[in-house]
Amino acid sequence: MQQTSLRGAQLKGSRELSDLLEGCEETIEARLKDSPDVTSFFLELRNLLDKLLRFRPPLEPPSSTFYTGLISEIDEIGWDRLSWLCPNLSALHVSIADTAGRLHLVKVQLPAAYPEVAPLVTAQLPEQVKLPAWQPGACTLQSIIKNHEDAIASLQDLWACLEDLDREAWVLEPENPTFADVSRRVALGGHCSLLLTLDPARPRARPSDIRFMGSEAAAGPLHARLHAADAAPWDAARLPRENLERVLQMKLPTRSTSALDDISGDCCICYAYRHRRAPADQPSSGGDSHGEVPDQSCGNPQCARLFHRSCIREWLLALPTSRRSFNTLFGECPYCSQPITVTVS
Ligand SMILES: [Zn+2]
Ligand SMILES: [Zn+2]
Repeated sequence: MQQTSLRGAQLKGSRELSDLLEGCEETIEARLKDSPDVTSFFLELRNLLDKLLRFRPPLEPPSSTFYTGLISEIDEIGWDRLSWLCPNLSALHVSIADTAGRLHLVKVQLPAAYPEVAPLVTAQLPEQVKLPAWQPGACTLQSIIKNHEDAIASLQDLWACLEDLDREAWVLEPENPTFADVSRRVALGGHCSLLLTLDPARPRARPSDIRFMGSEAAAGPLHARLHAADAAPWDAARLPRENLERVLQMKLPTRSTSALDDISGDCCICYAYRHRRAPADQPSSGGDSHGEVPDQSCGNPQCARLFHRSCIREWLLALPTSRRSFNTLFGECPYCSQPITVTVS
């Protein structure tokens, strides 16, 4: 089955286009990653540009006090901390280094009426920093940066816990985690994985959301261990990875200790994890940018391979030996030839 993807593609354009799309980089990156082909990407880009042009009022040139005020504000922060400044001074990025040496960017967009009107501030954090109500004069770029420094300082342990998982376990998703990502899908082996989401405020507490994904044969016993352990408290002095290994009574597999075949939670028919149906199959992409994940598995514990429902259904429908009874298809696993069933709607 052919997989088309724009993974690794980049969007380049004129200065006007870049200025217009300023602040939308993450959206564009995500759409590039998820769009099945160039045409659907450009259709989405056109919709985005339509919206931006409709809602963004034409820029009025700022007054001269805008510039003098801004220059002295940047003097306060320190020019060396500016990692980017828009040539027309309507936006800037300030870098903040945290105690572990991670580099964070605070992106500030300045309206022409700044400082009378609040700037638009974003940073790659699990939650956007809640800034006090804007008061011209009392609030400055420096106070905004200070608010972000405090927030970043409070998230140090969260990132330490996540980096430990990234280093000591086999993280399947996200492939390239950002400082905003608080979830990790970790390989457990046997075509099974675990999705956990840490609470940014209490990263070492037992995550309220731990989900097993993949083969029921492998996940069942681990699931039972996790629930049996709920009687014994999660040790908040330890890292989440250490607690997981203790509770699941296993060492989490790493890239250096395990073979890819057993680790991958990918569909064994299309070899992908996220499955987006072809546009003809799915007339409107709706709001779902994630696609189907493999949730069907072979019941033979020696095989336990995973499939997308749509892939195994298509496979079974194509085989003359498969049979259908009401809304269930009966056939053979493509790998081990043991009986496998899938429901069809
Ligand atoms: Zn598939
Ligand atoms: Zn099988």
